[in-house]
Amino acid sequence: MFHAQILTLFPEFFTSPLSCSIPSRAITQRIAQVDCIQIREFALDKHRSVDDSPYGGGPGMLMKPEPVVAAIRQARKQQANTHVIMLSPSGVRFSQKKALEYTKKPSITLLCGRYEGFDERICAYVDEQLSVGDYVLSGGEPAAMCVLDAVIRLLPGVLGSPESAVLDSFTEAGILDWPHYTRPYDFEGMQVPDVLLSGNHASIAAWRAAQAKDRSNKRLSNT
Ligand code: SAH
Repeated sequence: MFHAQILTLFPEFFTSPLSCSIPSRAITQRIAQVDCIQIREFALDKHRSVDDSPYGGGPGMLMKPEPVVAAIRQARKQQANTHVIMLSPSGVRFSQKKALEYTKKPSITLLCGRYEGFDERICAYVDEQLSVGDYVLSGGEPAAMCVLDAVIRLLPGVLGSPESAVLDSFTEAGILDWPHYTRPYDFEGMQVPDVLLSGNHASIAAWRAAQAKDRSNKRLSNT
């Protein structure tokens, strides 16, 4: 079974997304298990503080090293082989390739920041820093949920049809999915391309490959 641990100040953030659709099914079918560890439980002082002001001045607060590192140690104790990932805008970019890589690990631990981020010394205790894109979220939780969702749907047995994941965008480097159509044939004057009704599987496959390539090239020239 694939195991994920989430180190967070807001475990309640995950209740709804993990109780819907594919992640919920994966958990019920015991293909994946997700546990939250509340970082605040590892705070040392009587106020249970997890943040402090930055040396050198500047706005905002930082996650203090002591509680975060104690929470990481607890995660490593619970899952000896866990791969600890710090969510950070400065990390390497998350991708479908990375998602696939994580499915092969017995356990991943996602460390979610808040405030202005982490005291830099915490980086020495994680295996990797990961960003979900070049924008800043108010916390690591939505980033961790993106990663978790992308990984869970790739676990064997989670998707109804195993081909769906193989045909997804990005499975082949840089190639997007092709356009899809369902009924009705005519929607407000827009018709389904005739090739899809031809019954000729070779022509359909060729059309889809060409469309996917065309879309991918257009997207690339836009970024
Ligand atoms: N001052 C930081 C931003 C902190 S945002 C900076 O400019 O880099 C607070 C937390 O949200 C971060 O510690 C991180 O865990 C999370 N976060 C924000 N944007 C993210 C992104 N693009 N990818 C991954 N995590 C992100």
